[in-house]
Amino acid sequence: MAGGAPGSKGLRIPFVAALVLVTAACASAPDGGPAGGGPSAPTPVRVAGDGSIPKNESISLNDSGHAAIANLDPALLAAVREAAVDAQARGVELKVTSGWRSAEYQQRLLDEAIALYRSEAEARRWVHPPEKSKHVTGQAIDIGPTAAADWLVQHGADYGLCQAYAHEMWHFELLTTRGGQCPQPISDPPG
Ligand SMILES: [Zn+2]
Repeated sequence: MAGGAPGSKGLRIPFVAALVLVTAACASAPDGGPAGGGPSAPTPVRVAGDGSIPKNESISLNDSGHAAIANLDPALLAAVREAAVDAQARGVELKVTSGWRSAEYQQRLLDEAIALYRSEAEARRWVHPPEKSKHVTGQAIDIGPTAAADWLVQHGADYGLCQAYAHEMWHFELLTTRGGQCPQPISDPPG
């Protein structure tokens, strides 16, 4: 190891300090954060931020600097990117309206929905609490616009991507193998 340079020791300290800062910024990760490492550890948070995308806006699948994209499960992101290339060839552009979300952001969305619907039960039809949301673990992605979501509903299984909920045609998860069969989307319970 080339440790002889006189300046190298002095340089190392700020570098370590920067690492500590980055780690602290990621400490909002659910279930213990990046130091987790257990078998059920969530996807490590790679980019700081809460992953929020303003309502009625969308971002590109290639926007790797955005926490909503960068912190997705790599397998999910790879599958959706591959699908996007094939969709593009057919004139359909897949955009991301929501990807990874911090637990705090997920809770904020739920609070907003409860305020909007004036009903916690109705809000929970649309927004899971942080501990139930696959967005928080990086295992779900919302696709827009409608034509793009529609394309992925029809072709997603080729990439292992499935519509998870019957009443959310934009929400996709890796629920089958490539070319496999998607499970029936979960029906909204009546009442
Ligand atoms: Zn979703």
